[in-house]
Amino acid sequence: MDVWCAIRTHPKQAEELGNPIPQEPVFFLKSTSSVVSFGQIDTCGGDVHHEVELVLKLGDDLMPTEMALGLDLTKRSVQDRLKAGGLPWAEAKAFAGSTVIGDWVKYNPNAEYGLKINGNEVQRGSLVEMSWTPRELIDKLSNWAPIMKGDVLFTGTPAGVGPLVAGDAVTASLYLDGACIDTQSADCV
Ligand code: ZN
Repeated sequence: MDVWCAIRTHPKQAEELGNPIPQEPVFFLKSTSSVVSFGQIDTCGGDVHHEVELVLKLGDDLMPTEMALGLDLTKRSVQDRLKAGGLPWAEAKAFAGSTVIGDWVKYNPNAEYGLKINGNEVQRGSLVEMSWTPRELIDKLSNWAPIMKGDVLFTGTPAGVGPLVAGDAVTASLYLDGACIDTQSADCV
């Protein structure tokens, strides 16, 4: 299983980090060995930022069949340093426990999702607000990457990313037609 991630798919979030909005989708990889379940997040002394994302699992014809709540945890200061040097940012994105994936449910393109920290919603997004549809993202990726059934795709994060600190209670929620259909929680240490 490969873990693909799309970036800057939500225009407001790209703006928030001062990043230009790309003409074509841009992807990176996280390591399979960095994948964990919700439960506990190591904030690495407060450098880890949350990025809640909807994660798609590719089925036959490489179209999404299942979806899950995910956190693309990022060591932001490490990423900023590497970006400034024009260097690959794997150290900021593929450290132990950096790829959090919840339970898989049947895919629905109308899904919305959000992240609460200590009960306050800090991020909320949907697939329909993205610059590309999931199908467009997968089509573009498959133009150059040998993606396969079983691979997963982090679809990018909406605005509101920020740091986690020890003691934070994190809750990610998945919504369909306004109703919550899944909740995943983690405690920060
Ligand atoms: Zn991300």
